[in-house]
Amino acid sequence: MTTQVYDVIIIGAGSVGLPTAFFIARAGLKPLVIDQFASPGQGSNKAAIGGVRATHSTPAKIRLGLDSIQVLSTWKEAYGGNIEWYQGGYCFVAYREQEARILKDLLKIQQAYGLNIYWLDRDDLLEVVPDLWPEGLIGGTYSPGDGSASPLLTAHAFYTHAKELGAEFCFRERVTGIIRRRGKVVGVRTDKGGYATETVINAAGPWARALAQMCGLDVPVVPDSHEAGITEPVARFLRPMIVDIRPAKGSKNYYFYQHGTGALLFCITPEPPIVGTDRRETSDFLPMIAPRMVRLMPKLINIRVRRTWRGLYPMTPDGSPIIGQSRELTGYIYAVGMCGQGYMLCPGVGALLSRLVQEELTPKDEETLEELSPYRSFGREEKLK
Ligand SMILES: Cc1cc2nc3c(=O)[nH]c(=O)nc-3n(C[C@H](O)[C@H](O)[C@H](O)COP(=O)(O)OP(=O)(O)OC[C@H]3O[C@@H](n4cnc5c(N)ncnc54)[C@H](O)[C@@H]3O)c2cc1C
Repeated sequence: MTTQVYDVIIIGAGSVGLPTAFFIARAGLKPLVIDQFASPGQGSNKAAIGGVRATHSTPAKIRLGLDSIQVLSTWKEAYGGNIEWYQGGYCFVAYREQEARILKDLLKIQQAYGLNIYWLDRDDLLEVVPDLWPEGLIGGTYSPGDGSASPLLTAHAFYTHAKELGAEFCFRERVTGIIRRRGKVVGVRTDKGGYATETVINAAGPWARALAQMCGLDVPVVPDSHEAGITEPVARFLRPMIVDIRPAKGSKNYYFYQHGTGALLFCITPEPPIVGTDRRETSDFLPMIAPRMVRLMPKLINIRVRRTWRGLYPMTPDGSPIIGQSRELTGYIYAVGMCGQGYMLCPGVGALLSRLVQEELTPKDEETLEELSPYRSFGREEKLK
């Protein structure tokens, strides 16, 4: 074990761990981040397509989403680096009364939490997204403050700034256990040695449960796999992210947007979920998503797909993250179960964790942590998970 005592050890240099290291180092504390992979963001983070929205259906996620948009949208002016933030908004489209009803019901809570989101009837929606298939279109929600950014550039930005602020990183190093004494964390054991700390953050994404089990704890995070793809670049014709929540055979919703380079990025939610950690691309994905996208927007038929990939969602039973202190082991904090929204929530999560370890929580933070508590009942499902 090294003699240095770290204020916080963060396990995982992914969507959660990197902004958390940045905010903790910015607060003047000394974090160490340990990751089994060779460089930052090589877990789920690099699989994300970069969608960023605050349009969720629960107060905690809405708050974290808004905080994250604040960080991502001002990153360039605050820190100088380009993370490709683009404020194109999100549109959830409705072609059937049942989806229109779900979206309109959600608007009430979304607007109550200060989101700039509203309903557009068919013709108004077609003004925002002229290429949508017009037949049967009822309308949709539009949230112009949402957007997209690059998960790879964001990871790099948080990593380099955290390092400049004094955070330390160990890559190609696997955490194998938590060292505890009298019910308290005193250090972290790895395949290369050990490090002393009284505060550990489990930010291990899809591997969070295995990590918890290493020290006799448990947390209900189960990974399932999702595929995404990217097309060749074309001239800009689409501003918002389009989300279609109608289920179809083999899938639930799917979503796509046009990136600043002109390429389209797209993703689908398999139904039933494909549980496990398999990250090999399949030949099922494109035949499943391409017809759905082309039916929704016929002009896409002319655009060629360049590449697909597959990554993991760290899922929880109710679709919301699990954040908070362990009651069984003092000094052990969970920041896990980000589901399909870890990239868009994590600047907000990182700032929250920094306030948690400094014991500077605001009343709103307390509400967020109560909602995301590891000890909640998991009975209420997040509708836009
Ligand atoms: C196809 C696809 C598209 C997506 N699109 C979006 C999107 O548009 N917007 C969005 O917000 N989210 C999206 N997501 C979800 C997002 O990628 C995840 O929610 C997020 O990356 C999870 O972050 P994390 O930090 O929890 O996990 P990760 O980023 O995986 O980080 C966890 C890290 O912990 C490390 N680790 C684990 N165990 C150990 C150990 N024992 N020792 C050392 N290191 C360890 C891993 O190596 C890993 O680097 C998408 C996901 C997929 C698969």
